[in-house]
Amino acid sequence: MKLDATDLRYVTPDEFRVLMAVEMGSKNHEVVPSPLIAQISSLRNGGVNKILGILAKRNLVARAQNSKYEGYRLTYGGYDYLAMRALSKRDSMYSVGNQIGVGKESDIYIVANSEGQEMVLKLHRLGRVSFRAIKEKRDYLGKRKSASWMYMSRLAAQKEWAFLKVLHDHQFPVPRPIDQARHCILMELIDAYPLRQIDQVPSPGKLYSQLMDLIVRFARAGLIHGDFNEFNILIRRDDGEPIVIDFPQMVSTSHENAEWYFNRDVECIRAFFRRRFRYESAIYPKFKSTAGDGSKDDGFRLDVIVEASGFGRREMKVLEQYMESTKGSQSDSEDESEEEEADEEEEGSEGEVVEGSERAEVEEDVEDVGLSVEESEHEDEEPD
Ligand code: ADP
Ligand code: MG
Repeated sequence: MKLDATDLRYVTPDEFRVLMAVEMGSKNHEVVPSPLIAQISSLRNGGVNKILGILAKRNLVARAQNSKYEGYRLTYGGYDYLAMRALSKRDSMYSVGNQIGVGKESDIYIVANSEGQEMVLKLHRLGRVSFRAIKEKRDYLGKRKSASWMYMSRLAAQKEWAFLKVLHDHQFPVPRPIDQARHCILMELIDAYPLRQIDQVPSPGKLYSQLMDLIVRFARAGLIHGDFNEFNILIRRDDGEPIVIDFPQMVSTSHENAEWYFNRDVECIRAFFRRRFRYESAIYPKFKSTAGDGSKDDGFRLDVIVEASGFGRREMKVLEQYMESTKGSQSDSEDESEEEEADEEEEGSEGEVVEGSERAEVEEDVEDVGLSVEESEHEDEEPD
């Protein structure tokens, strides 16, 4: 799917209200009934239907049906629009350029601010590939009826943002975080090639040690990257220094499977160096002597700092369970033929039955959602 930056400037205030209303209604309904949309947006029914038609034409919402009623759902396009509008209102970004990456669970674009400075916009797309799998395992969703791709994608972005910030604050070699909204994060564009595309380096031994040192540094700060591989390590063009990206799967060294994750990260690098550079070293870090006894930490625990920063244990758990339930389709290194799946988008939100559309329930939902667009002080802020 192509992002359209011009769209950002051609949505009327009423259209925007309706779009926001669909988003709010989506919290409890996979198919949002039109009367609920009208109610949340405080616009007249007739007007709302017309606007919904316009939004549907532009693929910001889509008509949908479940066994009981017809309504609308927000599309990826609509969610992207809301996030980018929030970012552009805050002057964080102004225009959208080329797409530079399509992963199973994200799209990456080059964007720019009003001064023309380029940045990277990462849009998380959880649920694009494997929504069916997570439907079978929704116990962790608690009150939320729909395991929506929106919610999961937002959690992933919030988690990545929390880690990116804390790592950058502590001088880890990661892109500078710029802003975050809904399922998106905005960060510094690194002028680099992914390690995966690099056939030769001046000194494989040196790069190998740098990467192992990084794994150790992470662990001493209480963290394991969890997907530390040639796709998520960028080699800077100017000085050949490695920069680490992609943090939604980071785990704490206190995690019950910490050692396993740690070893997997180490093994990914070892295997890649063997394969690509025919380089093998007898020296590699062991979890126990790195993070195992707690006495080797660097005086700060970034896992603890992140937890205190708002992305708490509960959110971490929800996301982890999601990732567990989609395992096997998720690691970058298994990702060689990723293109095909890109079109399965929105698979997840189709026609799932959500409890009835009775008037009373609709009203209850409005309360549940907690605010109408009108009351919302910061109109661009996402409903919680
Ligand atoms: P995914 O979760 O889909 O693997 P990543 O965060 O790993 O997403 O990004 C995918 C690709 O996009 C990377 O392999 C890299 O080529 C590019 N990329 C991501 N972030 C940046 C950045 N800040 N600067 C330059 N390139 C980036
Ligand atoms: Mg990646």
